[in-house]
This record gives sequence, structure tokens and C-alpha cells, in this order.
Amino acid sequence: MFSPTVRSRSTRRRPCCTTAQEIFEGIKAYRHADGSVHTFRPDRNAARLQASARRLALPELPSEYFIESLRQLVSVDERWVPSGADQSLYLRPFMFAKEAFLGVRAAQKVAYYVIASPAGAYFTGGVKPVRIWLSEDYARAGRGGTGKAKTGGNYASSLLPQAEAYEKGCDQVVFLNENHDVEELGGMNVVFVFKDGRIVTPESDSILEGITRDSLLQLAKDRGYTVEKRPISIDEWREGVSSGDIVEVFACGTAAVVTPIGALVGTDFEEEQPLGELALSLREELTDIQYGRREDKHGWLLRLV
Ligand code: PMP
Repeated sequence: MFSPTVRSRSTRRRPCCTTAQEIFEGIKAYRHADGSVHTFRPDRNAARLQASARRLALPELPSEYFIESLRQLVSVDERWVPSGADQSLYLRPFMFAKEAFLGVRAAQKVAYYVIASPAGAYFTGGVKPVRIWLSEDYARAGRGGTGKAKTGGNYASSLLPQAEAYEKGCDQVVFLNENHDVEELGGMNVVFVFKDGRIVTPESDSILEGITRDSLLQLAKDRGYTVEKRPISIDEWREGVSSGDIVEVFACGTAAVVTPIGALVGTDFEEEQPLGELALSLREELTDIQYGRREDKHGWLLRLV
């Protein structure tokens, strides 16, 4: 609990920054059957960290340094990477300003760390559809804001809506923008599958460009699906489901990979969502690649150890 005790500490010994320049990434290391350890598309995480750095006025970490930092951490004790189905080592690289200065200006000094934790299966007992709370009172990010960056403030501002979602018996929140277009969940992108074989996912300058989404959409294109990145409004979602044009809705991200959306809940409605097969089959294909059980045709894996 926060205690209002004022402690005097030398800012020289404990440097900090009051302007909230903080960015991070989330990426996993996977153990293959032969014992080797691989990570998935780290160049994309490196590029996204650089884009976040530009937006938050932090220095851009070179990709080689980023990848080397993952390799070094895993190499400290590679037994940290668990083996077994859906087991992985979740890696969290982050950078923050650490300068003792009270004014609002871009800090000159920053710190970069990587921390890690073994991660088990996101869903125990198989993938479960989630109930989504439609947040009309809160926005995750505004136009021209930091929505496209992976920065702490975006996540801090989603905690209250997330707590409200739990109170309504839901697992996650879906955020809309000012035009009532669908943005994303607190930590996952959203994908819609249409009856005619189109796959639509929101395009906006205020959502995070998910690496899982990009990979799943590439796998879907390989299977002949047409992929559209464009704004999709909440009305199009609801009408598409009620007319049967939308046959599947799912969310995706590094942590859970793919999560079917089972219900959309608002203040005055609750609608079941269609659960199709594509989400689960793409999930299986992607995780097979990540765990080395299927050919990595796109060259997405990078061996760390
Ligand atoms: N949107 C948000 C807000 C996220 O935090 C995440 C998780 N990083 C995603 C989407 C999905 O991104 P990725 O597939 O790269 O994990």
C-alpha cells in the first residue's frame, strides 16, 4: 500500500526521470525438441522498439544490440527456457529515462534492461473463447498520441477499464476510437473473418502493430485468404455478425497467441460471437513454426542458443 512518508534521498544516488519516458517489448524464447532455443522475428520487435523510442524521444537501440541482449540473457542459464507444449521464456526488454531532472524535456541518460520469466500455457485445458467488454467511456489512445508505441502509459490507462470489464464478468476490453472504429484489446489485436474469405483487421495510427497478427495474416495469405487492413466500425462488426457475413472474430498477441472472441458485451446488449475453425488452425500452424515442429518457410526463427 502507498504510504505518504516523505523520505529524503540523494537524486545523485537514485537517478530517476519524472517525465515518463518508458518503452518496452514482449517476445518469447522457445525450446525445440533438439534442445536448441529460438526466438521469433526479433528484428520486428527491435524495429518496433525503435519506433516507440522515436515517439517517446528516447534513443533508438540498434537491432544487433537488441538481439544480442536477448541472447546474453538466455545464455546466462539456458535452463530458464522450459520445454514442453506451450512452455516458453517470456522476455521483456525495456528502456526508460533515468535522469535527475524535474522539467519536461527529453532525457539524455537512459537505462536498458531485459528481464524474463518462464511462461506456461496461457489457457489451461485448451484455448478458451473470451468475453469482451465494449468500452465506450474510455479510449486507449487518441489520434496523434502514443497508441502505436509500446509505452507504459498506454497500459496504465487501460487498467481501470480492464477492472470494469472484470466487474461486468468479462475477460478483456475492446477499445474504440473517436469514429467508433474498433482499435484493439488492452494487449491484443483483433481480426475478423468474413464469409467470402476476406480477413479484415483494423488499420489506424493509434494501435500497436502486432507481430503475431502480421504473422497470422501472412499464413492466411499463404492459404489464399485476402487480407484487408482498414478501419472497421463497431456497427460493421455487430451487423456483420448478425447477418452472418462475419464468421469468426479473434484476438491475437505474443502471450496468448490466438484467442477466439466468444461474446461481445456492452451496456445494453450481449451478443454471442461466431467461433470458427480458422483461428485455431492458424494458431496451430504458428505455434508449430515457433516450436520447430513445422518448416519455417518465411525464415522467422532466430536461434539464440
Ligand atoms: N496490442 C497491444 C496493445 C499489445 O500490448 C500487444 C502485445 N504486445 C499486441 C497488440 C499484440 O502484439 P504482439 O503480437 O507483437 O505481441
